[in-house]
Amino acid sequence: MTKRISFYELTLQDLTEFLQDLGQPTFRARQLWQNAYKRLLDNPEEMTDIPRDLQRRISETVTFTSLEIRATARSDDGSTEKVLFALPDDQLIEAVLMRYQRRKTVCISTQVGCAMGCVFCATGQMGLERNLTPGEIVEQVIYFARYLANENQRMTNLVIMGMGEPFHNYQATMQAIKNLNDPTGFKFGARRITISTIGIVPMIKQFAQENNQVNLAVSLHAATDELRSALVPINRRYPLDELIPSCKEYVQQTSRRLTFEWALVHDVNDGLDQAQSLVKLIQGLNCHVNLIPLNPTQGYAGRATSRERVKSFHDFLTKHKIPCTIRMRQGVDIHAGCGQLATEK
Ligand code: SAH
Ligand code: SF4
Repeated sequence: MTKRISFYELTLQDLTEFLQDLGQPTFRARQLWQNAYKRLLDNPEEMTDIPRDLQRRISETVTFTSLEIRATARSDDGSTEKVLFALPDDQLIEAVLMRYQRRKTVCISTQVGCAMGCVFCATGQMGLERNLTPGEIVEQVIYFARYLANENQRMTNLVIMGMGEPFHNYQATMQAIKNLNDPTGFKFGARRITISTIGIVPMIKQFAQENNQVNLAVSLHAATDELRSALVPINRRYPLDELIPSCKEYVQQTSRRLTFEWALVHDVNDGLDQAQSLVKLIQGLNCHVNLIPLNPTQGYAGRATSRERVKSFHDFLTKHKIPCTIRMRQGVDIHAGCGQLATEK
């Protein structure tokens, strides 16, 4: 049998053309789209509004499950679940579901590994294997949507903060968002999606033009070039005097508030000197700072900042009128925390 195409690679337009090629009327595309994205069906035989012979043709040529579940893990407190998926070429990626009060947030990957090499990040430590396709990005979400639907639950938020740098796989990520956002299908609101970037300046500028209401987070981690370049090598290419103006441009263009992320490493970037430089850098910008105590990874010796130092960093920002929150650590016992995704078996 020839290789089946993955349904989630297709745009609605692609699907329409695909069905036209099979001699089908155009309304079939919409039916199939809704079976896949609204009813979350993965078996054409259950698509009762599709004629039998077409069901069979679809089964032969299309797959709705191209990701294979290799392993799952649940944190001790039950709040976090991590899934290890094998892609059709046997590469591995991870995605995470986090439950916090009424929120059900899904965190997905955009690449196998990452080329950016941030020193404290497990994904960065493994290097880049390849980009994910749009369908591979979408299907992680569909997996959790099906999973939650079994419990009569729904995903409330989507964060594109798993393995990889989404702005280093820009087109595929944007297509995935478009498919998930489509009002006739999955209809997931753009305002409930957040995309996190390490700060690839030209793509921040392009993203600002998309006009799609998706939230942006920029991983800053340091407020001076010397320190930032040591932690985040891409800073040498896009230093702060280019990055911060591009963030300002984004806020101006979109009228949206931007989030800065800051992983706090003990005695590295958690001092008040950095907090002070940060205030100078972003004062007056419509933004919000998210402080994340470092999660441990094998390839980095740095430690998480102590509670007291997190608090004094936080208080310093607050005192200078920079809105700031401390992110809950979730799933660290199953290596599902920020920066811990690296598909170790
Ligand atoms: N590549 C994108 C998105 C994936 S990383 C980015 O870097 O923004 C998601 C977030 O986790 C980023 O803010 C990243 O800096 C942070 N992170 C990476 N490693 C971490 C670690 N060991 N502890 C805490 N946060 C980490
Ligand atoms: Fe890549 Fe983000 Fe990890 Fe940096 S922090 S290596 S950009 S995934």
